[in-house]
Amino acid sequence: MKKVSVFGATGSIGQSTLDLIGRGSFDVVALTGGANIVQLAADARRLHADVAVTAFPDKLDELRAALAGSGVEAAAGQAALEDAADRPADWVMSAIVGSAGLVPGLRALRHGTTLALANKESLVCAGPLLMAEARAHGATILPVDSEHSAVFQALVGEEMGAVEGITITASGGGLRDWPLERLRDATPEQAGTHPNWDMGQRITIDSASMFNKAMELIETHEFFGTAPERIQAVIHPQSLVHALVQFRDGALMAHLGAADMRHAIGYALNWPERLDLPVSRLDLAEVATLEFRKPDLERYPALSLAHAVMGRGGLAGAVFNAAKEAALDLFMARMIRFTDMAPLVETVLDRLEAQGRLEADTITLDMVLETDGLARVTAREAATRMTA
Ligand code: NAD
Ligand code: MG
Repeated sequence: MKKVSVFGATGSIGQSTLDLIGRGSFDVVALTGGANIVQLAADARRLHADVAVTAFPDKLDELRAALAGSGVEAAAGQAALEDAADRPADWVMSAIVGSAGLVPGLRALRHGTTLALANKESLVCAGPLLMAEARAHGATILPVDSEHSAVFQALVGEEMGAVEGITITASGGGLRDWPLERLRDATPEQAGTHPNWDMGQRITIDSASMFNKAMELIETHEFFGTAPERIQAVIHPQSLVHALVQFRDGALMAHLGAADMRHAIGYALNWPERLDLPVSRLDLAEVATLEFRKPDLERYPALSLAHAVMGRGGLAGAVFNAAKEAALDLFMARMIRFTDMAPLVETVLDRLEAQGRLEADTITLDMVLETDGLARVTAREAATRMTA
């Protein structure tokens, strides 16, 4: 039986993953979560996990009590997360949100596992490191972000040399039809509502600002090695075409499917096979219309930042990711406006570039973690000036 572990099991991707795991026969090794102990313990009991880990040490007693008599081990804290990643598993889902997902993913790769990567932040902040770690240990990384799973599927049996360009689609987020001048007043609640996808709150707000798409452009560059000028995002309000690959002979291969993350998760879970998945099928006659349009860069400045980051290379991705997370924290705490996020991230990038902090030939974990901390501090400081 395939041994599987799920990091970030209590989140949106984690729960969809457990839904699929629960329908098949798998040997569940580790499940990890955060503060939602009730969910974590219930899933660990139901799926007979070997161990359940909460990221928060002060939640250990609660987790122990919730697992009493179940035979599931309880553990807590960063070291326990890393230990869980060291437990042998054939397939590991990386679905912690934010750069906190990087270290457990790297640890799992060292054991030559197949890492299903939903945590796009780890590719953005440390892409070369992650890919090198996978190569060094004969591990496989499978993309779980819907756009990247779509590109990956369109590339089966193809040579990368035959690829002219990659287009990923974007819904435009919850505020796409708002007049530009109203955007500055958008609240976290308004930005946190998505027209098509049901996701975690942070990624939903990132969809409205298109920081999510900006991350995904960088993710495309890091994962597929495609040059920045050959990668673009296009607005597609229906969210049914997830990505398109343009080949040198003029063929454009598109991947279509319902807006349900269980497709990309299930593809990675069953890869290289395709098995039945409980996702709804598209009726194209009913869909009738698929629209596409160029994103307005004034509305979505994060997209221009993404291309600048890809062009700069080095530690620019680590700065971008951390500054973006800090900007989102500040927006969610109502300390900056929706429209302050992109200028804030740009300020952090410029400031750290001026200090020579983006340069690096090879990226190490220590460099990434240090840069991450520095970018967050710089973002908070720059935000104080912004609001002063
Ligand atoms: P979520 O907020 O719903 O869940 C996050 C999970 O991470 C939870 O289990 C939480 O307990 C855990 N977590 C949070 N902070 C942690 C920390 N510091 N240490 C350890 N664990 C921590 O998020 P989500 O929407 O499921 O997204 C997970 C990842 O997948 C993100 O990287 C996101 O960008 C990516 N992703 C999500 C979707 C989606 O549809 N939700 C689609 C594509 C990619
Ligand atoms: Mg996506």
